Amino acid sequence: MNKQTIRDIDWSGKRALVRVDFNVPLDKDGNITDDTRIRASLPTIRYLLENGASVVLMSHLGRPKKKVVESMRLRPAAERLFELLPEAQEVKKTEVTTGPAAEAAAESLKPGQVLLLENTRFDPREEANDPEMAQELAKLGDVFVNDAFGSAHRAHASTEGVAHHLPAVAGFLMEAELNALMGALEHPQQPFVTIIGGAKISDKIGVIENLLPKVNALIIGGGMANTFLLAQGYALGDSLVETESLDLARSLIEKASAANVKLLLPTDAVIADAFSADAQQQVVAVDSVPDGWRILDIGPETIKLYQEALEGAKLVIWNGPMGVFEMEPFAKGTRSIAQVLADAASTNAMTIVGGGDSVAAVEQAGLADKISHISTGGGASLELLEGKVLPGVAILRDK
Ligand code: ADP
Ligand code: MG
Repeated sequence: MNKQTIRDIDWSGKRALVRVDFNVPLDKDGNITDDTRIRASLPTIRYLLENGASVVLMSHLGRPKKKVVESMRLRPAAERLFELLPEAQEVKKTEVTTGPAAEAAAESLKPGQVLLLENTRFDPREEANDPEMAQELAKLGDVFVNDAFGSAHRAHASTEGVAHHLPAVAGFLMEAELNALMGALEHPQQPFVTIIGGAKISDKIGVIENLLPKVNALIIGGGMANTFLLAQGYALGDSLVETESLDLARSLIEKASAANVKLLLPTDAVIADAFSADAQQQVVAVDSVPDGWRILDIGPETIKLYQEALEGAKLVIWNGPMGVFEMEPFAKGTRSIAQVLADAASTNAMTIVGGGDSVAAVEQAGLADKISHISTGGGASLELLEGKVLPGVAILRDK
């Protein structure tokens, strides 16, 4: 990675202003139901504390729509952080994000101490990337650390604006994400196979177009495979299709063939007579989907075909489930691919999974720790795979 990280700074006596992603799910009583994101920030915070810094943290939580929403305060996150980080003698928490009270709290910090500011999105200026808010934030630290990869595709005051006023470097989570995703794309090991699925072709067009010239094989599954099948003339009953993307599907098929990229589409499917877990279901070839039925997963023959295409791959990037995995009867295709990636990773291949639902599916299958890299940023990882420059990364100091 060509960006400076927290290793490039002498932290002794400095105050680090760290953008983290504490956007954790809360139940209706305000209890954190999954603290993965808080845990993911610990290596960076620990490193800063161990190297003599004090730490001011900022994050958004939920979508408070530019005003204070009591249920979206970061108090529970501060409490959980303290449980996870007992070596900080205390995790202070302000009820404001910027201004005199935040400045006083930040200035009172001694090396080894941690302060969490209030939800950045309570301030209407955050999402507008308002330069005044950025300046107010910058008063709270000596060096800006961006460790919120999942928010790096947004140019907000706390992710981008603030970096115009302070030296800015990457935290460890940010570094790991960039190393994995950008590293893979800059120097892809061959054979390089990409698996794209999910609901809609229109969501993934940027990813497909960016990866197509780099891959040896492109595997398509999920609802978006339907539009490719339709483009080839198959009748698909009530399956989800995007008729407005038919030309796009055709042009991608042509591009793949011109670039000598093997494009794999499902040959059979699990179909159901309703969009429901207890609908009637059967496995059919893709040329035999009856009227009134819909494709909800790839079939066993397709799973085998995809397994074979992944054999020997040195780099695999996967985004988008193979079927409606949220319903048990249609989860098999997605789970089988997750297993293939887990096995491939154990035989020396680099396997990367990105995308909110894909990551959820891998976690549901209990295979997350067997994948080389699970990207924590849904939208941000997609934009990186699209070849875009993320504003929260662009502003970091170059090496
Ligand atoms: P990610 O979040 O990993 O980028 P997407 O959001 O693009 O993935 O797609 C995930 C969604 O696609 C899931 O909700 C899944 O149910 C849906 N999906 C997958 N296959 C089908 C299908 N055959 N028909 C309808 N929806 C599908
Ligand atoms: Mg999704």
